[in-house]
Amino acid sequence: MSEIVIIGSGPYGLSLAAHLRGRDIPCRVFGRVMGNWRSKMPKGMLLKSDGFASNLEDPEAAFTLKEFSRTQGFTYADDGIPVTAENFIAYGTAFQQRFVPDLDPRLVIGLDRGSDGFSVKLEDGEMVTSSRVVIAIGVSDFAYIPPELTGLPRQYVTHASHHGPLDGFRGRQVAVVGSGSSATDIAALLHESGAYVQLLARRPDIRFHTRSEDRGSLANTIEQLRHPRTGIGSGWRHVFYTKAPHLFWHLPENQRFRIVRGTLGPAGGWFMRDRVIGQLPITTGVTPRRAELRDGRVALTLSGPHGEQSMTADHVIAATGYRIDVNAIRFLSDKLRAQMKAVHQAPVLSRDSETSVPGLYVVGPAAAFSFGPVLRFVYGAKSTIPPLARHLARGEARRSVPVQKPALVPRR
Ligand SMILES: Cc1cc2nc3c(=O)[nH]c(=O)nc-3n(C[C@H](O)[C@H](O)[C@H](O)COP(=O)(O)OP(=O)(O)OC[C@H]3O[C@@H](n4cnc5c(N)ncnc54)[C@H](O)[C@@H]3O)c2cc1C
Repeated sequence: MSEIVIIGSGPYGLSLAAHLRGRDIPCRVFGRVMGNWRSKMPKGMLLKSDGFASNLEDPEAAFTLKEFSRTQGFTYADDGIPVTAENFIAYGTAFQQRFVPDLDPRLVIGLDRGSDGFSVKLEDGEMVTSSRVVIAIGVSDFAYIPPELTGLPRQYVTHASHHGPLDGFRGRQVAVVGSGSSATDIAALLHESGAYVQLLARRPDIRFHTRSEDRGSLANTIEQLRHPRTGIGSGWRHVFYTKAPHLFWHLPENQRFRIVRGTLGPAGGWFMRDRVIGQLPITTGVTPRRAELRDGRVALTLSGPHGEQSMTADHVIAATGYRIDVNAIRFLSDKLRAQMKAVHQAPVLSRDSETSVPGLYVVGPAAAFSFGPVLRFVYGAKSTIPPLARHLARGEARRSVPVQKPALVPRR
């Protein structure tokens, strides 16, 4: 009953479990190891984050991606060489085997809270009780498809996260809607696997990150002082976001939301530019207004600067991102959902990552509106997981201290 349950075994859940184990705090971890990286990201994808910013966090900060790559003979550089999703999954799996060997791969399908703690229902019906629960599900339940594209069967319209391997689209016409890294990644990979792809973006242009250049040591030093590099981008703002998520938490609510929404907008990785630009047709400045089925194909009506235009495709993929929404977390009971305070649908969290339901915590991307944009990335685990493990350990210590009853001293 004093156990901590962690729901989710991606970078955040695994890092937290490793830190708790390092403190001899028992916890149970549920979910498929690196489940979203295995099944919800396109096969062949490259990470946008640099090698040095793609570490899972162990208590000694020793089992890094660099160290793992060295032992496996994988090509690795702190930056300049993109990390393949395949290697990252292998790294996450090795991390789990080393630090969380008893992980339970079952999914959680229900979570409720009664007078004696949380009840966690697993996919095979087994119930587990726990006094504290940490939700570490990443963006699992938050895929966003614009309403104009919903309503058609999944055979015709899907979200980017519905696809792993893309071979099924060979020879078919696919419209990819979006302009961020998901859109450019999936468009390039579809094109390279033999599909006829059209990229449709609402923005006036498709942006890519720039590769950091080696300018020679003096110029590098000056540039580093002016725009210091961090795990999520360059500049002093990013230094603040990456180093001080618990100070970020103190900012006024509106400011936090504005920063998280406005920081690091949609852009592909620098290494994708040549695989997209000039390779496949791109229409910018257009927004889908309607999608209907016509003769077994999807007819899209797009609005743009020159009015409405139509096009057809065999399939539409909405690479339109994720929207954090506590109401979308499938396993939460109605009671917990009602008790969990949210602002703009994101959970309101204490400085210790606790929701308004005592004992229920949220980590990872769903905590970004509290702790800042770094939480949208693996890199955020570095600054947020160790303090959370400390907090949970303190709670565990209080729980396990036997209550000292005053000795009854006989009166003389
Ligand atoms: C296409 C794409 C590309 C990305 N590229 C990068 C990148 O290059 N670098 C970067 O830093 N970030 C990237 N991100 C963001 C990335 O998702 C997060 O940084 C990181 O994975 C968050 O880790 P997490 O542990 O919170 O969540 P996830 O990695 O999403 O893991 C969540 C875990 O929860 C499990 N889970 C879900 N529901 C349940 C349930 N009901 N019961 C049990 N388990 C459950 C899943 O199976 C999974 O194991 C990318 C995201 C996307 C969508």
